[in-house]
Amino acid sequence: MTATTRVVVATGNAGKLAELRELLADTGMELVAQTELGIDEVEETGASFVENALIKARHASRQSGLPALADDSGLLVTALAGAPGLHSARYAGVGAGATANIEKLLAALAQRPDAGRDACFYACLVLLRHADDPLPVIAEGLWRGSILESPLGAGGFGYDPVFLDPGQGLSAAQMAPALKSRISHRARAVTELRRRLSDPQTPPLG
Ligand code: IMP
Repeated sequence: MTATTRVVVATGNAGKLAELRELLADTGMELVAQTELGIDEVEETGASFVENALIKARHASRQSGLPALADDSGLLVTALAGAPGLHSARYAGVGAGATANIEKLLAALAQRPDAGRDACFYACLVLLRHADDPLPVIAEGLWRGSILESPLGAGGFGYDPVFLDPGQGLSAAQMAPALKSRISHRARAVTELRRRLSDPQTPPLG
């Protein structure tokens, strides 16, 4: 990678951009939000998180002519065949909030009392050097836990109040933000991306 490479981030979420800027500050990437460049969101038509992240990164790279970074994430519950999965954000319907999503999840698990409550959060980050890059850098992170019977804690977002980390004995919503950002699926994906970028075998960004 050259001293500084401008990279467009395929998100309109200011919080996510700020977090990525901090976590990737020393990698030589100058991260620019796609919204700053007037790039719209693209429809996520993939059948997996990686495919959706690729679609988002390719769209942002094609529109901007820059390398692009995209992420995708969600919650997967074993007893529900991986649901809410790709639909995590809109599990209880488009525009439904976290409370409705959690209620739907707890109701679905209540129908399966013997099926266990294992779950994991998953995140992937995809970095494309250009829109037609045949060798995207793909970094994944998993956080394994289980789904509580009822919500606990007031921090975090999304499914955090019902996701129990067995090692910590805390829900993700009970954790100090610094702890969650150290052990979460996103933290693991970022660590993996950093490892891949510093690996001399990884072809450079620019
Ligand atoms: P996105 O990848 O940011 O669009 O996240 C997809 C959805 O997955 C979010 O709207 C949440 O419902 C869920 N999700 C992803 N990461 C987390 C997390 O760290 N805590 C709680 N929910 C999450």
